[in-house]
Amino acid sequence: MADLTSNPYRLSDDVLPRAYRLILEPDLDAARFAGSVEIDVDIMAPSTEIVMNALDLEISAAYLTTADGSTVSCGISIDAATERVTLSPGIELSLGTVTVEMTFTGVLNDLLVGFYRSTFTDPEGVTRTIATTQMEATDARRAFPCFDEPSKKATFEISLVVDEDLAAYSNSPEVSAESLGNGKRLVRFAPTMVMSTYLVAFVVGPFEATDPIDVDGVPLRVVYPPGKAHLAPFALEIGAFSLRYFTEYFGIPYPGDKVDLIAIPDFAFGAMENLGCITFRETALLVDPESASRLEVERVVDVVAHELAHMWFGDLVTMGWWEGIWLNEAFATFMEIKCTDAFRPQWGRWITFGIEREAAMAVDAMHSTRAIEFEVISPNDARGMFDVLTYQKGGSVLRMLEQYLGEEIFRDGIRRYLTKHAYANTVTADLWAALSEASGQAIGDIMNTWILQGGHPLVRVADGQISQSPFSFGPASGASSIGESWKIPLLTRPLDGGATSAAILEGPTSIAPGTLVNAGGWGTYRTAYGSQELAQVAAHLRSLEPLERFTLIADTWAAAQAGHVSVADFFTLAAGLGVDIEPAVWMVVAGALSTVSRIIDEADRPALSSLARQLATPLFDILGFDAKAGEDEKAPTLRATVLSMLGVTGRDEVVRSEALARFEADTMAGDIALAVLGVVGSVGRSQDYDTMLARLNAATNPQVEDRYQIGLCSFEDPALNLRTFDLCRTELRTQDAPYVVRSLLANRVAGPVVFDALCAHFDEVLARFPENAQSRMLSGVSTMIGSRDVAEKVADFLRAHPIETGMRSVEQDLERLFVGVAFGERERPGLGAALRALTNP
Ligand SMILES: [Zn+2]
Repeated sequence: MADLTSNPYRLSDDVLPRAYRLILEPDLDAARFAGSVEIDVDIMAPSTEIVMNALDLEISAAYLTTADGSTVSCGISIDAATERVTLSPGIELSLGTVTVEMTFTGVLNDLLVGFYRSTFTDPEGVTRTIATTQMEATDARRAFPCFDEPSKKATFEISLVVDEDLAAYSNSPEVSAESLGNGKRLVRFAPTMVMSTYLVAFVVGPFEATDPIDVDGVPLRVVYPPGKAHLAPFALEIGAFSLRYFTEYFGIPYPGDKVDLIAIPDFAFGAMENLGCITFRETALLVDPESASRLEVERVVDVVAHELAHMWFGDLVTMGWWEGIWLNEAFATFMEIKCTDAFRPQWGRWITFGIEREAAMAVDAMHSTRAIEFEVISPNDARGMFDVLTYQKGGSVLRMLEQYLGEEIFRDGIRRYLTKHAYANTVTADLWAALSEASGQAIGDIMNTWILQGGHPLVRVADGQISQSPFSFGPASGASSIGESWKIPLLTRPLDGGATSAAILEGPTSIAPGTLVNAGGWGTYRTAYGSQELAQVAAHLRSLEPLERFTLIADTWAAAQAGHVSVADFFTLAAGLGVDIEPAVWMVVAGALSTVSRIIDEADRPALSSLARQLATPLFDILGFDAKAGEDEKAPTLRATVLSMLGVTGRDEVVRSEALARFEADTMAGDIALAVLGVVGSVGRSQDYDTMLARLNAATNPQVEDRYQIGLCSFEDPALNLRTFDLCRTELRTQDAPYVVRSLLANRVAGPVVFDALCAHFDEVLARFPENAQSRMLSGVSTMIGSRDVAEKVADFLRAHPIETGMRSVEQDLERLFVGVAFGERERPGLGAALRALTNP
């Protein structure tokens, strides 16, 4: 989509890299590195210069050796603005292969991008240092001069010079290690397959590793900081399962030579799919399944599966340019859920994915949404693509297509696509072409309506007719990115049983009475039934499939926020759930209670608490605080949701006092620990804050650390929240701090006070936190819906201080904020009376 000739950030195709030979020597204490690289490049058109990417590197020398063996020194000119370096050999380069050689130095930064450094405290209390990489999207150029575009694939032969006592890892297996006699050793790795620069990785530090296990010929290890060996076995189990699952699903062997799954103490993303050398933040890899909650364990399964899916979809076959990142990430998200669902079918992972789809649809109903596939020109544009629209909306759109076509036809199309484009690059149309071949349908015509325009439709079923219109929470104040019409892969079935039918819905058409729309619940669209039709569906509520029930509840809550149905009608429908054991369904209800708690007048709050108790107490009576032998697999997650509903919104005395007792005794089971901390925070005693902080500082388990960081944000006293904010500025790891600030901003009572503190330290915080996390941190403002004055102040400040990456996400969050404010102003006046009518019928 980007015009190559006019985009100053793009490299030409006249010079293409073929092979890199890279030697790097990091100095962990001095936070610097020295390196040299040889690149064999193919000259595709006569040229007098070679242009590649480099950023924050000092290049001391560059030479070029021609095919006849003569070597010339090159002039070096760096353009920092476009992150490019131009080498001028002073001769005309004719077609053929030449070798470029450069020596350079750089800084091991602390921004968690490129080649960076971080520290951690080992079990003996000693501070240790590591150096590691995060190249995606466009930061390989910070580690070595390179042709840093995904389509410029090449092989990489990497060597590292490291201290004798440090371990070193890269994409390929180690082929040799020799002592250099000066306290250093030279570790050489085998050449990689042809791949993109953003997948290059090297990791150096005092790491330990499990013994490799043999997964049908592929050695698999987990690598971790010292003292964490006991948290590694579960990752090996899911790693082996995923490798086998994907090898079978794709019908193609694993494309690399080995797999290392590496836990990094400071990591900006969840994980990164470097071929054969996958890096993770600790919470996404290291876990004790006995003491962790289901959701914490599920996260490890999800992320390991997601990254391993990328080995094929992303690493073997790669998008040609960053506008195609959705293809990588949406597909890996889709495969992650599919693999997790195969690993533990009893977890119902496709149902909980509904919650993630809701998060994406909430953004996608904003007029400031964007199309899933979106033009990318600069590196900042590329970095701004890693959002819920790329991952969760993209993944759910693929699931909708898969369920429409049938799982085997869809898989056949994927196999064709991967086989045809192995080791190469693609555009989205290549995937549609393969799926069209497999299905005999024009898939591009259908999917372009979902990929190339923003928003999603509302399907209306009323008076025997079915039709579509764009869904939004209100009118646009300016231009809208929400599309007009979609080709909707529509699944329907009779409510009283019978087979599911598939059709493409475009214009209005007739529909038989008693039909369930969005059968299975896979659609990325909303459904609104007329009152007669809704009564029929509601009468079948408990016999619907769990995801169908989830979708009906979620669609009704969206309709309430859009002003199409009343809040009271939504809670009446929720009351009809009875003792449904599906946690995802109750998460929507709990979220609705929490949203209402942000807009309700204080005088009416007791009515809301009483409604929360009315909805959740029947479930609590079954579930209690403790797991029961033989209980349903979904009970633990539901228990946590119910405890939050009762303890926080419901202010239930029994739950509150029991939560405090368990907190004081430090006897919280993993499944309910986070919920208990939330309840304790909502009670608001400052001594409990001090206890949480002490336990955070003593934590050695990544999940426990996470829980206490979030727990610290649950107190309502602004002074306590400001203490937590100060920790974010100073002590907390920069991989975590932005997310803690997000939780603080989302604190119903203290959010505005924390926002003021954030404004006062805005530049300092932006300089400290990783760039990719800044818009995620600010997303906390979307929940500050209690006051229009506050919302306007927030919007004024953030628009006057735009962040460099992800400003589109910030605009979406600001629009969400004002949607919420309008919801509050519309609902607040009659809310107390309506809720009292529900609880005292
Ligand atoms: Zn991914």
